[in-house]
Amino acid sequence: YGPVNLPDQELHTTALWWQLPPDHLQRCFANRQQALDGFAGAAQALHTVAALAVMAEPSDLRHVVTDSDGGWFARRDERGRMQVQDADGSPLHGGERFAPTLYLYDNYPGGVGLSEPLFDRQHELIANALVLIAACDCVVGCPACVGPVLAADESCDDDTPKSLALRVLDELSQSSHGAGPRNDSMDVMATPTAETSSQVSPRDMFCDSRTATDDPW
Ligand SMILES: [Zn+2]
Repeated sequence: YGPVNLPDQELHTTALWWQLPPDHLQRCFANRQQALDGFAGAAQALHTVAALAVMAEPSDLRHVVTDSDGGWFARRDERGRMQVQDADGSPLHGGERFAPTLYLYDNYPGGVGLSEPLFDRQHELIANALVLIAACDCVVGCPACVGPVLAADESCDDDTPKSLALRVLDELSQSSHGAGPRNDSMDVMATPTAETSSQVSPRDMFCDSRTATDDPW
C-alpha cells in the first residue's frame, strides 16, 4: 500500500463549469489553498445535487477542479490534501495563473445528454448545494455534504471545509460569471482512481499557520 500513480484518462465529453473572477477569489479567501478547498467541497455538493436533479447515478457524473486552460489540476497529495499539480502530477508552487474552475461532466464518451439540462438548471443546483451543506448536521464538513474531511480539519474553528465550500457557492450564486456550457469536444483529465477522483474532498490548510503564511496569492 502506498501512493497510487496511474496514467491520466482522456475523455471527450460534455460538461458545465463554474468560475469566480480573480478579485472575488482574493476578497473571499486568504490564500489559494482556502479557495481550492472551497471549490473541492462545493464540487462534491454540486455533484450530489446534480445527480439527483437529473435522476442519474452519482457515477454518471464526475467533477474536477482544474485551471480553466488545463494548466494545472487539483488532486490530493500523499497526505490527502488538495494540491495543485501539473499534467504530469508534479506539484506547482505558486506563480502560475490561478483560475480554479469547477467542472461537472458527463462521465461517458461523447456525453449522454446530462450536461445540457444541468446547465439549464445551474441556479437551482447552486441553491440546492447551499442547502445541502448548510442543513447538514456536521460542524466542519462530512462525506455527506462536502466530502471526506481530514482529522486535522475537525479541530478547526474558522474556515472549515464546510464554511469554505459555502463561501464558494454563495459567491457563485451572486456572481454573473456563473456557469458556462462546454458542449464542444473537451478533454477532461482526471486521475482514474475511482474512489478518489470521484470524491474531490475539501482539505483545510488554513489551520496550519505555516501554510497560510507560505501560501499567499
Ligand atoms: Zn456534512
